[in-house]
Amino acid sequence: MQVFGSSNENAYGNMIRPDREAAMYRAGKELIRPLDIRDIESLAGYMRRNHVGSLEIDSRNSRVFKVSNCLTCSTMEQMGRKACFFEAGLIAGALESIYGKMVYVRETKCQCIGDDVCEFEVIFRGN
Ligand SMILES: [Zn+2]
Repeated sequence: MQVFGSSNENAYGNMIRPDREAAMYRAGKELIRPLDIRDIESLAGYMRRNHVGSLEIDSRNSRVFKVSNCLTCSTMEQMGRKACFFEAGLIAGALESIYGKMVYVRETKCQCIGDDVCEFEVIFRGN
């Protein structure tokens, strides 16, 4: 009996299997929700203090967030798929507090697929 998954999966490969992605997203969201984040500056401060990454808004598109030194992937080797579902959920949870609207946050660039920084796109739901 194997407890930790099949032998051809390394720890990271196992962590980002599709069935884990939603759980990581939810974990990020549930972690930040009780903090009642009120603005982007507070979100950026939280992420910096807790070593989740350095958050920046794209100067051309306020719905695009860039994260450098990302907690999940900045020290990972490239593996051909995006990995930062925890960070996406964290940003989503904070934006829902800030705007009082449901949002979905999708990672569009990731250091795990060779991009310089991770990039997240915010999709407001129900409007
Ligand atoms: Zn990433």
